[in-house]
Amino acid sequence: MSRIKSKPPKRVDAAEPDPARLETHFRDILTELGEDPKREGLQKTPARVAKAWQELTSGYRVDIDAMINEALFTECYDEMVLVRDITFYSVCEHHMLPFFGRAHVAYLPDQKIVGLSKIPKLVEIYARRLQVQERLTLEIAYTLQEKLKPRGVAVVLEARHLCMEMRGAESHLSPTTTSCMLGVFKQDARTRKEFLELLKSKPV
Ligand code: ZN
Repeated sequence: MSRIKSKPPKRVDAAEPDPARLETHFRDILTELGEDPKREGLQKTPARVAKAWQELTSGYRVDIDAMINEALFTECYDEMVLVRDITFYSVCEHHMLPFFGRAHVAYLPDQKIVGLSKIPKLVEIYARRLQVQERLTLEIAYTLQEKLKPRGVAVVLEARHLCMEMRGAESHLSPTTTSCMLGVFKQDARTRKEFLELLKSKPV
């Protein structure tokens, strides 16, 4: 399990892409690849691809602060909150091919908790950007750290990368695991162990 210590880069807040321009670019790509964009099966492809990429990169255009702020609550609950097996789909920024898998996110609250549905939502927002798995892991962890000021945050991501699998760059197809431990999850071996043990137990 790799541990990354550096902070993630600043978040991007991009404008909505122009669908017509995206479409033109994808039509050019088809031509360049030796295809005939006018043939029946491909006529609507540039428009479909443009729409798909708008969705796959929609995470650039979401106000994360607002999304979390509306679901912050003050509670005296101080045990571990764990949301595991969050399915995510992202796109690697090196090849623009998918990587996908499961995220496990835990935090130890310090008076503030966040609505549970916001955690998978946060994973999805960051996943819907061009990513590397390492940065995706950090962005989820540091955002929770920043917004909740909890005693600790733990994030583990397990993912399969189609840029490796489809291109044959890797012979074994085991998932890649990344993790980020902050606060007590980093400092206290017992807390970290409790989290990792919980991940091993069977889902309900
Ligand atoms: Zn890649």
